Amino acid sequence: MRLMRYDFSISHTPGSCMYIADFLSRPSNPPGYEDRDIHECGMVECYVASNMKRILPQNFRERELSQASLEDETCRELKNLISSEWLVNVSELSPALKRLYQVRDKITLYGDIIMYESRLFIPESLRNKYLELCHEGHQGITKCQRRARQIFWWPGCSSDIEEFVAKCDICTKFSRIKHQPIEDVGLPDGPWIELGSDSCEFKGRLFLVVCYYSAWIEIKPLLSLSSYNVIQEFKGIFSCYGVPELLRSDNAGCYTSESFKNFAQTWGFDQRFSSPR
Ligand SMILES: [Zn+2]
Repeated sequence: MRLMRYDFSISHTPGSCMYIADFLSRPSNPPGYEDRDIHECGMVECYVASNMKRILPQNFRERELSQASLEDETCRELKNLISSEWLVNVSELSPALKRLYQVRDKITLYGDIIMYESRLFIPESLRNKYLELCHEGHQGITKCQRRARQIFWWPGCSSDIEEFVAKCDICTKFSRIKHQPIEDVGLPDGPWIELGSDSCEFKGRLFLVVCYYSAWIEIKPLLSLSSYNVIQEFKGIFSCYGVPELLRSDNAGCYTSESFKNFAQTWGFDQRFSSPR
């Protein structure tokens, strides 16, 4: 981005042809020469603006970030340092600025906003908000860090994300729920020996039965998931295709009720239930 203001071509010179640079090969700027500021260059400005639009979250408020940057002492000092091209006695810098001094080559200004490479530098007062933003949807640490890498930065940002996610109440609550491993049921010996059944919503409630061997599916509209209704549907299907040896289902009430157990016993098939147990 910062190189866009130069018009240059790249060529390769073998090491054996490289000579020690003399003074004239590195002339300093002539007196009166003013390097064009990056923001005065329309094309660069345009590029940065479009890039900003691409990387910024939808609910990003530029004014809020500008204001917070203006109010933050480190940001104010940082801007002065950028403007003075880091001409400073490093030992006099505060610990926060000393850390930023190490990465000064990557820090630039975009109006009132400080950029770290193509990411926003977030002042301390807004960091929590940006942590919440990148943890929206309660993604794990790695995904949040990846998201942040596209949008924002501050020193120690990665470990702050780690800490933030580790302390998230919702993530902690759900991480305690032990997920059952997927069970490989294997292929039955023939068709209509093992069936699976479930219900779903598509333009109304549907009841479905699938054969584990042939993948044949029977789908029926269902007014309610009462055991009586479900049993009536099974009776109709079994009358057409026969009674299976095993029926797999979840623990929905219609499959676990006493009346369904009686139905299974009477018609002579076993039941197996999947999670949640
Ligand atoms: Zn969370």
